[in-house]
Amino acid sequence: MRGKSPLIPVSTNLISSGTTAREKVNLRTPDVMAAVQEQVEAHYRSDIVDKVRRAGGMISVGDTTVRLAKQFGFCYGVERAIDLAYAARKVFRDRRLFIVGEIIHNPEVNHQIASLGIKNLTGKNKQADISDLGPEDVVIVPAFGTELSIQQQIKDRGCQIVDTTCGDVMSVWKRVRKYASESATSIIHGKAEHEETKATSSRALGDGKGHYLVVLTLADTDYVCEYIRHGGDKQAFLEKFHGAHSPGFDPDVHLQTVGVANQTTMLRGETEEVQRRVRQAIVDRDGPELATKNFRFFDTICGATQERQDALRELLDVKMDLLLVVGGYNSSNTSHLAEMGEEKLPTYFVLNASRLVSSDEIKHYDLHEKREVIAGNWLPAGPAVIGITAGASCPNNLIEETLIRLFELRGTPREQLELAA
Ligand code: SF4
Repeated sequence: MRGKSPLIPVSTNLISSGTTAREKVNLRTPDVMAAVQEQVEAHYRSDIVDKVRRAGGMISVGDTTVRLAKQFGFCYGVERAIDLAYAARKVFRDRRLFIVGEIIHNPEVNHQIASLGIKNLTGKNKQADISDLGPEDVVIVPAFGTELSIQQQIKDRGCQIVDTTCGDVMSVWKRVRKYASESATSIIHGKAEHEETKATSSRALGDGKGHYLVVLTLADTDYVCEYIRHGGDKQAFLEKFHGAHSPGFDPDVHLQTVGVANQTTMLRGETEEVQRRVRQAIVDRDGPELATKNFRFFDTICGATQERQDALRELLDVKMDLLLVVGGYNSSNTSHLAEMGEEKLPTYFVLNASRLVSSDEIKHYDLHEKREVIAGNWLPAGPAVIGITAGASCPNNLIEETLIRLFELRGTPREQLELAA
């Protein structure tokens, strides 16, 4: 898993910040990183998964074949964020450590981070308040980044900030800031309540004059397009996008010049369709010449999300009986992998191996009902080919446990699987 990540973005490991002058500290010294690597591998690595990957991503025992997607699991941004969080714990041994929300969307990983004594400052698992922090405290910003207002509050407390924001997320920020500087409203394809999109939305305000509108579905997009073409009921528009637009947003004014960007983990095909539909609406309203001034877009899906979607598409070309998608239920990129699977074959989005209850029963997340449900009769009785993939926030040890459990339910004990791998 480690050492294979391409393109770990280089950015400041530790940002001096705050109202008091702070020293800059390099977290990634060789000693610290060697210790971090050992600890992180102990927590998240899998021998079996590594061996299956080296063998071309396929393992067969008896009448069961499992195929792994060519790319799955931890992305470079997540690896870097986890490394920096572990490194911060080692370097700031005697200081209180906090994190803004979850480091990534995986409960097991978040549990490990909590076990290092790193306390959460926001969200439903909040353990401390920003107003309680002081200059001796260290605050980790997760891979999704955080909203400007939260970042400012932390700076105002004089805290040391360990910024693990992924470089690909910062590219989106750069883009929406540019839109704001050109007086173009950012139409952001994403989930309005997702941390990354909240962080991006805050940057889309630019110097205070910028605006944003978040669209999640193609139906949302069509609604906006209809308004762009023909106008409509402003109040109904604002109610529909309540919580998903900038303060003071006026669709009669702020849909004149727009730029489309997206959360880094969306489905590429859908994002391209959002861009296409919005552009067409502007062309229909303004004509093709003026539309070149009033519409702009930039594809901000990250490389890791793209690779995982491409690898799953390739895997889905093979005839299989079912697909398991492993990961946190609030993980955006993992949900999209499950959506892709569902279009082709029976797909079960599982949190971890414990959800494979028996050969008759599986607990899985239903994307439409937005809750975990129980399905029966999920595992074929005869020869079976089963695909497995996982989102960018899922560590290999959880994929290994799922693989072991699956083979157990098919009558192959762990020891036999280890020998076959
Ligand atoms: S999913 Fe993409 S944007 Fe998010 S942390 Fe990973 S590489 Fe960065």
